[in-house]
Formats: sequence, structure tokens, C-alpha cells
Amino acid sequence: MAVLGLVDSAEGDWARLRGLQYAGLSRLVSTRLAAHALAALLVVQALAGTVSILILLSWTALLAGVMVHGARIDRSLEDADRRRVTRQEIQRQTVGAVAAGAVWVIPIVLLSPYGSGEQRLLVWTVMAMLMAGTALAFATVPLSAVLFNAILGIASIAIFMWYGKMTAAAAAVTFVIFLAVGSIEAARAFLAGKVAEAGMAEKSEVVSLLLREFEEGEADWLWQTDSTRRVRSASPRFAFALGEDPEDLDGKPLIQLIAGASWEDGHFHSSLHDLAEKLKRRESFSNLLVRVTLHGHHRWWELSASPKFDENANFIGFRGVGSDVTEQRESADKIAHLARYDTLTGLPNRLMLTETLGEAMSEADRWRMRCGFMMIDLDRFKAVNDTLGHLVGDQLLARVSDRLKSLMSDNELCGRLGGDEFAIVVRDATDGDRIRHVANAVITALSQPYEIDHHTLYVGASVGSAIGPRDGATVETLMRNADLALYRAKDEGGGQHFDYEPALHAHAEERRKLEFSLRHALERGEFALAYQPVVDAITEEPLSFEALLRWNSAEHGQVSPVKFIPLAEDTRLIVPIGEWVLRTACHEAMNWPSHIKVAVNVSGEQLLDPSFAEVVVSALASSGLPPHRLEIEVTESIFVRDGTAAQQTLERIMSLGCGVALDDFGTGYSSLGYLRKLRFSTIKVDRSFVQGAARDNPESLAIVRAVVAMADALEMSTTAEGVETEEELAKIRLLGCKKIQGYFFGRPMTPADAIAMFETLALRSIRA
Ligand code: C2E
Ligand code: CA
Ligand code: CA
Repeated sequence: MAVLGLVDSAEGDWARLRGLQYAGLSRLVSTRLAAHALAALLVVQALAGTVSILILLSWTALLAGVMVHGARIDRSLEDADRRRVTRQEIQRQTVGAVAAGAVWVIPIVLLSPYGSGEQRLLVWTVMAMLMAGTALAFATVPLSAVLFNAILGIASIAIFMWYGKMTAAAAAVTFVIFLAVGSIEAARAFLAGKVAEAGMAEKSEVVSLLLREFEEGEADWLWQTDSTRRVRSASPRFAFALGEDPEDLDGKPLIQLIAGASWEDGHFHSSLHDLAEKLKRRESFSNLLVRVTLHGHHRWWELSASPKFDENANFIGFRGVGSDVTEQRESADKIAHLARYDTLTGLPNRLMLTETLGEAMSEADRWRMRCGFMMIDLDRFKAVNDTLGHLVGDQLLARVSDRLKSLMSDNELCGRLGGDEFAIVVRDATDGDRIRHVANAVITALSQPYEIDHHTLYVGASVGSAIGPRDGATVETLMRNADLALYRAKDEGGGQHFDYEPALHAHAEERRKLEFSLRHALERGEFALAYQPVVDAITEEPLSFEALLRWNSAEHGQVSPVKFIPLAEDTRLIVPIGEWVLRTACHEAMNWPSHIKVAVNVSGEQLLDPSFAEVVVSALASSGLPPHRLEIEVTESIFVRDGTAAQQTLERIMSLGCGVALDDFGTGYSSLGYLRKLRFSTIKVDRSFVQGAARDNPESLAIVRAVVAMADALEMSTTAEGVETEEELAKIRLLGCKKIQGYFFGRPMTPADAIAMFETLALRSIRA
């Protein structure tokens, strides 16, 4: 019944199958029309003499009408396989077939009363031919075939029986039944075929869909080679990945396609070498990362494949998948790069430095060599950063990095540990001079002035180094010991290189203890001030006293200010300690003759403290010291830190009436330009120049002369520091310095000694 179209089976897509059934009809429309026309011609000829020509013509016209109508219906079903066939369409088609059958009954009935046996046989033969033809032509649509044949068959059987031709009737019955069964079976076979075909199509559709999805997946492709490692049946995606035409690929060696120029010279990238090896050894591999070269560009592919064998276990090549992972790898590289490089300077960071040092150490261990680790710290960087801001500080670090980089050879790797700390790994430091040479080059290069944002910046560098494995068996100890050496270098005032020595441990420990004691020195009253006279170069009369801090520590005894002042500056303890010095000195000066001034040393650290000017005002007010009797001593370093902040503080102090002296002139920064920045009351020429000038060192002489000339022009006074001998005094006088300070006229003394000195002087003048 389902095959006939009378019911729809639950199994299968019958709407689609019906479409396929009916779509077949249109193909045979012309053949069918021709067959019917031929049959009609035969019938008309057979009946021409017996039946009136008018009736025959009318019948022919009727048949033609029915057939054309049927043909039109069949034609309209041409696209039925691509759409659904409606129930009405099926009905219309069936009615068309029934109508055709009915028209064909007419000649059988017309003939029966008159025709001869011979005519009847002829008509029956034509009918049988039509029925057989219809059964074949309507093979896919059995309902129409069965109905058409049933109508003709029943009419014929009825006629045979009417005239008592029982044998013929029986034969006709058998014929009709055979035809019906035949066309139903044919339709069943057709439908079964279509169902199977549909299944197949469905499967292949799924496969191609999967393939397409796979192929379109961003970077993935299938690839295969034959037993000679040549590319076979290259997929379009694979060809695309290669940047080639699929047709051009067939038969080309895979390695040649991806090796680029190295195919010629044989210097394969190691990953490519691995791939070639695997292919050669017929080993399967998965996610093998290969660097390929396509049209001169490097890309990274991830390839997986396994060898294929035919049924006789013969190797027939590789089949696998691949994907381009260049982007992922690049971002992975980027991440790895970020993890190993400092973003500000682009130099290797601490991680990479430690890794490199680790490698250098194991290399040194293996070859019984020595490696080195150097730590570099910028002197006075903090001041630049604090006062000129981070932007300038960052630029400075970048410039320092450039200079460092330019000094490196293949043997060294420089990097940034953080802040203003840099480091160098020296892979082979077997040559003992190597480290010293590099350290000196670094100090010299980094100490040259930097021009940044219209500032001329002077920073120095201190270097500490340690040699592996001598100074440490592990990366950690080697780094720590280089750090200790650096500490020592900074402690010595910077601008120097120190190599690690075991005694440094004790040194560092001592410094730590010193710092601990220093934190409590003020509250324990361990500080005292010593006063050193400054005399007039001509009259040798005392003009002022410089207050110099003394620390008598319970734990450490007398500690030199050269040692503890930098420590106090580093820890910012100098701020409260300096305030104590200022207040104490002002109070003490009140015990002196009213024309004697007091000079107080002030660190840059103190000047940057926002409350410093108030502290000065408060010290003057509470002691009652007139401002003009107080002179603040600062060094050039404050200008490196910041022209503005420190300068503004000093200008405020000067506006109170206090003097400001430029201390240690000629050391470190030595720029006469600083003299123009502030109206200093005094320039103090450092002891080294005084001694140099006394020895007729031309450079020292030139500097002292220049300072004196400049100070005179700017109406500033000059003080020569550290005059110890008669000769030095004579030279200084000759050079025109106004004031003299030094052991020759008096060492730093207790307050009582200072007062005693005034008394002797007063006595002397009375005697005179
Ligand atoms: P400075 O300001 O240059 O002080 C002069 C230093 O030279 C003093 O050393 C003094 O004793 C020494 N000196 C003076 N005349 C002679 C001489 O003829 N020959 C020799 N060889 N040396 C002489 P001192 O007292 O050890 O102070 C060292 C440094 O400590 C000072 O150098 C100063 O920079 C710093 N300092 C001392 N007291 C203070 C303070 O209260 N505050 C701050 N911030 N720094 C201070
Ligand atoms: Ca001083
Ligand atoms: Ca000085």
C-alpha cells in the first residue's frame, strides 16, 4: 500500500520518496505520447471500415485532449524530487491516468458489437502493448499504472467473457495480474534503491561536512606523503598553508616544500631535522613543533602523523594533520620574553640573569673554569629620581642600559635586577683581569654626564663582584656575595669596584649593627659636637666655627662621621639627627663673641624634608642667635638631586639672613656652573685641591685660581679646607683664598675648648 502511495509508512522519508517517484514521469512524457499516438493510429485503421469516421475522429480528439492534459500534469512534476508532492497533485495525476484508461475502453466497447474476430484480436494486441508499455513507463508510479491497466484489463476480460472466449479472458486476467504485480515490484525496487541511495548520500554528506569543517578550522589541515616522503593528494588547506597551488604540490618532497633555503645548503633548523628523522625512520609523532620556511618567511607548524601500511604490511607513506601555531608561539614567545626581560630598559631581568648565571656556573664547573657575577648600583640615582621625578629617572635608567649594553661582549650578559641595580654575568672569568677590566669600563662609562630633559645629570656607579665557584657554589650565594662586595663599594663612597672577600660578611654585619646603634644614639645622648675654627687668611683671626658631629657609641666607641653620616643619610636618620645638630650648634654659638659665626653641615636629605626651613627658624628663635651668624654648609650633590626643591629651601633660609656655603668644592661634580645657581656666601675648596696646589699640581692650581676668581666676581668668600702646614698656608694666601680652615689653626674641639680659645685670644688682644 505504501508503494502504491495509498498509505505512508512510518519508516523513511516518504514525502521525499514520493517526489522521486513522480519526478521520473516527466522524462517519458514524449515517449508515452508517441506510443499512444501509434496505438490510436492502429486502432483507427483497424476500425476504419466498421465504425463511422466521425466517431473515430471524435474519439481521437478526446484521447488527444486527455493525453495532453496528462502530459501537462506529468511535466509539472518534473521538479518533484526537489520539493514535496502534494496529495492533490498525486490525485490529479491518478485521475489523468484513469481518464486515459477510460478513453481507451471506448474502442473496445465500440468494436464489440460489430467487429470481426480478427479485428478484436488486433485491438486486444494494441491494448496489451499499451498496458505493458504503461506498466513500464509508470514503473515508479504503480498506482496510475495499476489503475490504467485494471480499467483496460477489466474491459477486455468483460468483452472476452461476453463473447464466451473463456481462454482469452483467463489469459487476460493472468496478464493484468502479472502487470500489476510487476509494476508494484518494480516500484518497490525503485523505492528501495532510492532509500539506499538516500542513506548513502546522507552518510557521504556527513563525511564531507566533517571534512569541510576540519578543513575550514582556522589552521588545521590534512597532509599525506608517499613512501618516498613526497606529498600526495594535497588538500587545498594544506596547499594554502604552504602558499602553493594544490596541483603544484603533488610529488614534491615534503621537506623541500618547508625547508626554504636550507634545502639547498642542508643547514636545517633543528626542528626540521627532527621531522626529517622521524619520516625517515617511519616513526609516528604527535604535535611536533617544526619551524618551516615558506617563501622566505619563518612559521611554526605543529605536525602529527603516523606511518600507513597497506594490507600486505608495506609502508605506503605518512598521513597526518598539521596546524600553523605561529601566532600562539609568538604570543608564547612574547610571554616568555616578558618574563625574562625588563620592560623599562629591555635588558634581561633578574630571572634571566639568574638563569644565565646558573648556566655559566654549570659550564664553569664542567670545564673547570671560573665565571663571574657583577652587581652594579648607580650612585646618587635616588636623588635624581626623588627630585626630578620618575620620568627623568626612567630615562636615565634607559640611558644607563644603553651604555651598559654597548660594553658587553659575547662573554658577558648585562641585565637589570630592579630599581637602579644592574648586573653582569661573565661567562668565562678565568682570566682574573677580565672582571676588573669590565668593572672599570662600566664605572667610567656610567659616570659620564647624562643630558636628559635639559638637565645635566651626574651619577656614578659602584660595582661589586664575585667569582664562581670560588666565592659561592650556588647562584644564590654568588649573588649574595657580589651584593656584599657592592655594599662595600658603596660604603667606600661609590665610584669604585670591590671584589668579594670573606671579610665582607663581617663588614656587612658590622654595618647592620652600626645602623641598629645609630637608631638609638640620639635618645641615648651619644652625640656631641666638635667645633673647628675658620680663620681670616690675612689676620688669622677666627671668624667662625664649623660644627662637626661626633658619635661616641656605647657599642662601637668613637665612630667617624665619614662612616655613620652616609648610613644616617641612607636610613633618613639624618633628619632628626641634623635637627639636633642645628639646635645644639645655635645654642652653643650664643656662648661666643657676637661676631663669630657658626657653620652647620646639612645633607641633601635634610633639605628635601619639607619642614627643614621651619626647623631653622625654630632653632634660631629658641636660641636667640641672629640669622647672619648661622651658615649652612651644603655640597654640590644637592644640585644633582634637584635644582628646584633644595634650591627653594636654601633661598628661604638665605632670605632669613643666613649664609649658605658650598662645601667640598671640586670633588665629585665640579661644575663652576653651580656657582651661578645660588648666591653662596662662601665656597669651600676641598682639602685635596689645597694639598694639590701646595704640591704645585697644575690642575689643582687651576681649579683654586678659577674658584677664587669666580667667587671674587660674584662677591662670594672662599675658604681653603684642610690647611695643615706652613707651606700650604703660604700657597693658599698667595692664591687669594679669604679664609682658612685646618689643623694648622685648630682641630675640631670641644665647646669648652672653643670658649677657652676665645678667652686666650681676648687676653692676647688685651696684651697687645
Ligand atoms: P666636612 O664638612 O668637609 O668637614 C671637614 C672635615 O675635614 C672634618 O672631618 C674635619 O675634621 C676634617 N678636617 C679639618 N681640617 C683638617 C685638616 O687639616 N686635615 C685633615 N686631614 N682633615 C681635616 P670630620 O669631622 O670627620 O667630618 C667628616 C665629614 O662628615 C664632614 O666633612 C661632613 O661632610 C660630615 N659631617 C660632619 N658633621 C656633620 C653634620 O653635623 N651633619 C652632616 N650632614 N654632615 C656632617
Ligand atoms: Ca663642612
Ligand atoms: Ca668640606
